[in-house]
Amino acid sequence: MPQQCPFCQIIQGEQEAEKVYEDEKVVAFLDIRPSARGHTLVVPKKHVSSIGQLPEEMVEGLFLGVRKTIDRLENGLNPDGFNVGWNHGQAAGQAVPHLHVHVLPRYEDDQGGPIQAVVRSEVKEDVSSIAKKIGSGSGEKPNKQRTRMSTEEERKEETMEKKKPEDSEEEDKDEEKEEDESNKSAKLQWKEMKKPKY
Ligand code: AMP
Ligand code: ZN
Repeated sequence: MPQQCPFCQIIQGEQEAEKVYEDEKVVAFLDIRPSARGHTLVVPKKHVSSIGQLPEEMVEGLFLGVRKTIDRLENGLNPDGFNVGWNHGQAAGQAVPHLHVHVLPRYEDDQGGPIQAVVRSEVKEDVSSIAKKIGSGSGEKPNKQRTRMSTEEERKEETMEKKKPEDSEEEDKDEEKEEDESNKSAKLQWKEMKKPKY
């Protein structure tokens, strides 16, 4: 757990938070600087900065946590709707490098907009040309993290094919090394993150 991470501190009980929901996989608490009445963050209990780093078996738990949170907010505050989403990466406004889903209750006449209002850039390229790039995976600016993840996945698949019983000890060492690398990368990301602008 990166010591400076405020969300890990909340999970460990080292920092206070107004909890809305908690189970063994996630915790949801009120945002300290709410953008709406009942603004809640749903946070996986494992420190990862992006959804790609979250183990698959925890993805379902995260979204169940979102559903439970919405239930609680509906019962307690009776809002008229919700916007749900997250800032994925610094360019998208992510300030805290521990994955968290924002659940924003919406009220009639709150003057807010739809989630698409977050960005309104002019897209000159036509949609079918964009679709081709996505389909072929030939984007001009590949996401480094995702490239790394798929290489890892490919390697794991290769290893599974070649797997022999005597390989298991070496495999354990590889896994430890991988975990170390992932922790290092989380620490690096933390350092690289700018101070929150809010
Ligand atoms: P993001 O820009 O998606 O990283 O949003 C981070 C959010 O975390 C902001 O809305 C902050 O107000 C909120 N936040 C930061 N520290 C805390 C904390 N200790 N307790 C509750 N919310 C926090
Ligand atoms: Zn954390």
